[in-house]
Amino acid sequence: MAQVPFLNLKAAYEELKPALDEALLRTAASGWYLLGDALKTFEAAYAAHTQTAHCVGVANGLDALHLGLAALGVGPGDEVIVPSNTYIATWLAVSAVGAVPVPVEPDEATFNLDPARIRAALTSKTRVILPVHLYGRPCDMGAIMALAHAHGLKVLDDAAQAHHAHYRGKPVGGLAHLTAWSFYPGKNLGAFGDGGAVTTDDPALADRVRVLRNYGSRVKYVNEVKGVNSRLDDVQAAVLSAKLPHLAKWNARRTALANRYLEALQGLPLTLPSMSSVEQSAWHLFVVRAPHRDALQKALKERGVDTLIHYPIPPFLQDAYAEFRPRAAEFSLAAQMAKDVLSLPMGPHLSIAEQDHVIAAVKASLS
Ligand SMILES: *Cc1c(COP(=O)(O)O)cnc(C)c1O
Repeated sequence: MAQVPFLNLKAAYEELKPALDEALLRTAASGWYLLGDALKTFEAAYAAHTQTAHCVGVANGLDALHLGLAALGVGPGDEVIVPSNTYIATWLAVSAVGAVPVPVEPDEATFNLDPARIRAALTSKTRVILPVHLYGRPCDMGAIMALAHAHGLKVLDDAAQAHHAHYRGKPVGGLAHLTAWSFYPGKNLGAFGDGGAVTTDDPALADRVRVLRNYGSRVKYVNEVKGVNSRLDDVQAAVLSAKLPHLAKWNARRTALANRYLEALQGLPLTLPSMSSVEQSAWHLFVVRAPHRDALQKALKERGVDTLIHYPIPPFLQDAYAEFRPRAAEFSLAAQMAKDVLSLPMGPHLSIAEQDHVIAAVKASLS
């Protein structure tokens, strides 16, 4: 078998070619490319899909987080609880509004924020808890929302990896005060470029993001606040509308592949992701932990299997956050994960034959 790619984005296009071509051409021919009907149609469809009252499209996932925090009124002097082990966008959004990210270590069984550790990190300056549904697995939102209510805090969740994930039977998107989404091409629901959105049940928060994304303006040339230019364009919205009806089926394929991995990789010197009946993962990534990760990655590459590392350097060890360097020892769980996590090929177009090749390659590499 030829190289097994980590993720095959072209296959999604090929599966839906007529519908995607029609969406692209229809938008091109419409003569309207920003804040038009294609955007309104997608916003309504995604609000319905997430069972929320409002969806506001923005330019990317980082802006969804940034404008979400701005809508919550977070600014200089405020603290925001973030995971120590996340993609740096989560932290950058906090910095973008002038607030301070307060890293909290994960629960090793789930990779997600540990509610007990969040409680220990709260101060009089904490305004928001920003959980990330890492690798697609929903956080323990019941415990996090209860903690937030008890302390008068808001919750903005980063769902960039968790499209169509469910917590206690409810879709991610309406579990917190505000939810931030990314439609980066490699996400479970991906555009043909950058895209993002915020979902919420709160009309005032939705209205604030709507105004902020468009220069702080509701009426053309009338600017209420200092906004930004961060709109989800109509071409991307049309692409996302064409893909959305297939998301549930694509996630079901990911779940089937995850179950096959879990079954086949038992008993090897690997830590496999844990399962939960409460938290239905979107299986954005299938991440194992391996004591000799780099050697395993190299051996898999030689056997024709592409893997990735999410993420090799945690935010607190990046030059961008050099101020956290002296405190690095406080975040040893995240530092250890960066050394031993490995993401195996995963996606709705990974074939069973390809997955069997990956499984055989992992077994051969570890024997
Ligand atoms: C992808 C991602 C983002 C950022 O999304 P962009 O659309 O690339 O800006 C934020 N948080 C997490 C956890 C992500 O995986």
